[in-house]
Amino acid sequence: MSNSAANSPEVGAEKRPTNFIRQIIDEDLAAGKHQSIHTRFPPEPNGYLHIGHAKSICLNFGLAQDYHGLCNLRFDDTNPVKEDVEYVDSIKQDVEWLGFKWEGEPRYASDYFDQLYGYAIELIKKGLAYVCELSPEEMREYRGTLTEPGKNSPYRDRSVEENLALFEKMKNGEIAEGKASLRAKIDMASPFMVMRDPVIYRIKFATHHQTGDKWCIYPMYDFTHCISDAIERITHSICTLEFQDNRRLYDWVLENISIERPLPHQYEFSRLNLEGTLTSKRKLLYLVNEGIVDGWNDPRMPTISGLRRRGYTPAALREFCRRIGVTKQDNTVEYSALEACIREDLNENAPRAMAVINPLKIVIENFADKEILTAPNHPNRPKLGVRQLPFTREIYIDQADFREEANKQYKRLVLGKEVRLRNAYVIKAERVEKDEAGNIITVYCSYDPETLGKNPADGRKVKGVIQWVSAEDYLNAEFRQYDRLFTVPNPGAAEDINAVINPNSLVVKHGVVEKSLANAQPEQAYQFEREGYYCADSKDSSPEHLVFNLTVSLKEGF
Ligand code: ATP
Ligand code: MG
Repeated sequence: MSNSAANSPEVGAEKRPTNFIRQIIDEDLAAGKHQSIHTRFPPEPNGYLHIGHAKSICLNFGLAQDYHGLCNLRFDDTNPVKEDVEYVDSIKQDVEWLGFKWEGEPRYASDYFDQLYGYAIELIKKGLAYVCELSPEEMREYRGTLTEPGKNSPYRDRSVEENLALFEKMKNGEIAEGKASLRAKIDMASPFMVMRDPVIYRIKFATHHQTGDKWCIYPMYDFTHCISDAIERITHSICTLEFQDNRRLYDWVLENISIERPLPHQYEFSRLNLEGTLTSKRKLLYLVNEGIVDGWNDPRMPTISGLRRRGYTPAALREFCRRIGVTKQDNTVEYSALEACIREDLNENAPRAMAVINPLKIVIENFADKEILTAPNHPNRPKLGVRQLPFTREIYIDQADFREEANKQYKRLVLGKEVRLRNAYVIKAERVEKDEAGNIITVYCSYDPETLGKNPADGRKVKGVIQWVSAEDYLNAEFRQYDRLFTVPNPGAAEDINAVINPNSLVVKHGVVEKSLANAQPEQAYQFEREGYYCADSKDSSPEHLVFNLTVSLKEGF
C-alpha cells in the first residue's frame, strides 16, 4: 500500500478484486469527468429481492461506499399492474439488512411522471415521437425480425399538432387500452430491435401504488430509466448485460431532450446465475402462488429474506458477492460457493449448543444426582462466554451415535465400549433394552467420575465424542432439514417447473435441545455440534414450540 493511500478513496483496495467498472470509475475521476460518483439500485417492486439482486446491491452501494460517493434506492415503478407496496417495503428492509444506506429518501420513478410527460411532449414537438394506432399484433408484424428490417407505421408521419392532440387524449383517458401508444421515431431498419420506433408510453387504466388514479398512461422502462438517472444526477448507471442493446436507446433519449448535462452513462455486467436456483422474480412468484413454498421468505428460496430466515448473515452474503466478482462473462456460480461463505462465518461466530435430533434414551446407572456442568459457547473464543448444562442420570444421545457392534472406524458409543460425552464425562455402554420389535429403546451405561475435563487416569484411550442432552431437563424441538428445491442444476431452463421440484427438499424431525436454547433468537445461528448450523425460525418458532432451520451442514457435500 502506498503512503498516499490513507487519503485516497482506494483505502482497503487490497481487499477488493478490481473490476472493469472500477477501472472506468478510476479513469473518469482521474480525467476530471466527475468529481465524485453517484450510483443507484433500481428494483422494480414486483417481487422480493433475490441473491442476484444482492450482487447488484453490493456492487452499486459498495462502489458508492468505497469511492465516498452516493447511491440511491429507486423503485422502477412503471408497471402498476404487477407492483405492490408489500414489495416496496420488503425491498427497503432487505437492502438495509444487507448493511447498506441509500442517499436521502427512497426515490420512485413515479415521482418523475410529470417530468417524463414533459419530455415526451418535447420529443413530439421535435418530430421525434408520434402516436401510433397499430394494434399490438400489427406492431409486431411491422417490427421485422433480426434478419429483416421493419416497416414504417402508417401513423409515423402525423403532424406535430395531431400527435400533441392525440397524446393529450391518451392522457385524458379518451382512448381505450391497446388502441394507441406513443412511439419514438428512430429507425425501423436499425439492426438493433430496440431502436425500431420503440413504444415509450402506453395506456393502462390501472391504479398505481404511488400515484393512485392520476395517470392512465404509463412510460415504458427504457424511456423512464435513463431520464430518472439524469434527474438524479447518476454518474454510472450499472445494469445487467441483457440491457446492452438498450444502451443505444438510453443515449438516444437523453441526447434528444433538454436535460442537464453531463449525462449519465450505462455500463453492463453479467448477471449472477446460481446453480440449482431460480433468479427470476416471475418464476419465484409462481412458486409462492402455487404454494410450492411457504411464501417469499421460505428458507429454501434464494430470496434475501429466505436466506435470512434460513440463518444466512449479511456479512456472508456480502462476502459471497465479493468473491464472485464483477465481469462481462456469462457464468453460473456453484451453490457450494455460497454455502462456503456462510459456513466460514458461522464456524467463526456461531455459539455451540447441543441438540439431539433422533433421541435415544441413556440411563447412567452409577449416577444418581444432578450436576450442573459448565461448557464454553465457542471452543476458541472465550469471549463468547459459557453456559450451564444439567447433567442427569437419564440423558438422550442420537440414535446414530450408538451401535451394538461396530468396527474401529465407528468412533461413537458401542456396546461394551467407552465414549466421551461432549463437555461432560466418559461413559461405557453396559447393556441394552429393546422393545418387542427389536428396536433399542434404552442403553444402560456407567460413567467414570474421574473424567470430567480430563482423560481417564489409567491411560485408557477414549477416541469418540458425542452430543447429549439431559432427559430430565431439556426442551423439545422441531428440526427442519432442507435440501435443494430442484432436482436439476438449471431449473430456469425447465419447461415445466413442477417436474423438477425436489419432493424431499424439506424433512421435519422432532428431537430435543439443551435448556439454554429456550430463548434462541431468529437469525442467531448455532452450531449443533456434529449436526450442522441451525437457527430458530422467525415465523414458527416460539419458546413453547422451538423450530430450528438447518442453515448449512458442517461440511461441504453433507
Ligand atoms: P428479475 O428477472 O428477477 O425480475 P429484474 O432484472 O427484472 O430481475 P429488477 O428489479 O429490475 O429485476 O432488478 C433491479 C436490479 O438488479 C437491476 O439493475 C438488475 O440488473 C439487477 N439484477 C437483477 N437480477 C440480477 C442478477 N441475477 N444478477 C445481478 N444483478 C441482477
Ligand atoms: Mg427488470
